[in-house]
Amino acid sequence: MTPPITKALGSTAKEYVGIQHETPLVVGSTSNWFILDNGRKIFDTTGGAAVTCIGHADSRVKGAIMKQLDQVEYTRATQFRAEAAQELAKLLVQSTNGEMERTMFVSSGSEAVDAALKLTRTYFLTKSNPEPQRTRFIGRLSSYHGASLAGMALGHHIGRRSPFMPLLAHEGPNFSHVSPAHALRYQRENETQEEYVARLEFELEREFIRVGANTVCAFVAEPIVGAGLGCGTAPPGYFKAVRSVCDKFGALLIMDEVMCGLGRTGTYHAWQHPDIGVAPDIQMIGKTLGGGYMPIAGVLIGKKVASAMVENNGVFIHGQTYENHPVACAAALAVQRIIRDEGLVDNVRIRGDEMVDKLKRRLGNHPCVFDIRGRGLFIGVEFAQPMSKTPYPPALKIGARIKAAGMDLHPTWGIAGFPMQGCADGVDGDVTMIMPAYNITSEDVDLVVNAFGDAVERVLGVRG
Ligand code: PLP
Repeated sequence: MTPPITKALGSTAKEYVGIQHETPLVVGSTSNWFILDNGRKIFDTTGGAAVTCIGHADSRVKGAIMKQLDQVEYTRATQFRAEAAQELAKLLVQSTNGEMERTMFVSSGSEAVDAALKLTRTYFLTKSNPEPQRTRFIGRLSSYHGASLAGMALGHHIGRRSPFMPLLAHEGPNFSHVSPAHALRYQRENETQEEYVARLEFELEREFIRVGANTVCAFVAEPIVGAGLGCGTAPPGYFKAVRSVCDKFGALLIMDEVMCGLGRTGTYHAWQHPDIGVAPDIQMIGKTLGGGYMPIAGVLIGKKVASAMVENNGVFIHGQTYENHPVACAAALAVQRIIRDEGLVDNVRIRGDEMVDKLKRRLGNHPCVFDIRGRGLFIGVEFAQPMSKTPYPPALKIGARIKAAGMDLHPTWGIAGFPMQGCADGVDGDVTMIMPAYNITSEDVDLVVNAFGDAVERVLGVRG
């Protein structure tokens, strides 16, 4: 048996709290299954953290990586171009119907968020009539925009940021937050959808005015919310409304599609859903960009920002050693071509609708299931206390227990889940997210729904 890492380091587990030495050891993978060292098989219902999209162990991606390694493994982005980075940029720009013009690639979503914020500031310093007084960003409560200090200041996921609040010195005047758009929890009784959108629009407008409208660089939001709300979709008209507020005050609209982008929700970019219907000025992507084969994320830069930077010879002071990394770009290019050439986004829509439908049939009447929602294969099942529909106390760890039950379902196999304890600042309770790879079959949907249903019933009872 492999010794625990902590032992190998000659120390105790408590001293190395960051090391997940008790997680199961994966020794192999096929399609959408992990194979553990004890021979058990685990179906990956969540693509890790919404990353895996074409399945595991794809020989075509492996081939692309090997080919790139034969050509050149690394170039410094500011000195040389690699063909893979260029082709990946082309593919992504073409997917936006002319809305986005430039790209940059970094190694993680958190880095992409930082780069986007700095690029926005640079844009306001560079454009023909510079506005150096613009230093502020408005984000949303309950949001998660990465683990970096800037991402945590922009985000507002209490559970993930509270220990680090003293480090977010720059949050002070430069980052503030408005309400998320989540009708399920926050639309008032006797309020129509239009009135709810108007209330959120008014709140954002007031926030611009409160902080000084001409000091705001951008409003930043996930078009479909992942970690903060567990697949929270804004009411139709919301993004058109916030776009008009940004335009009115001369600020940019930034969309963080690190988790919901590149096909995950049933359109290639989440902003291409008709009910969102507006393109951002800057967009972050990540996770399914490399599909797990390489760590890679990116920033897509819209016409307005790209043109201003180019016309004014703008320099973006943001060099990173592994920017546009050739091998990561080659892997991402292979993954994105597979998504495109195999029509996987269509499969996401079809299997996503099927999954939500079957989950509703299996669990829709369970008294502890508060909501089953989804866009493509970005699905949230929210649990709440029967009758009152209030969240479970976080100490009960409902989501974590359902995850554990899923892993442990059968002697030889289980499913990997993605629980989010006390998300949405502790008011939305437990949501389990289901985010499998884009290539799943109808049989896979049945397997996930049955196994997840069994895991829920094992923890919460057949009738709650
Ligand atoms: N932005 C969003 C919306 C995310 O969901 C995440 C990660 O979950 C990030 C940014 C940060 O990405 P990464 O974990 O790759 O740094």
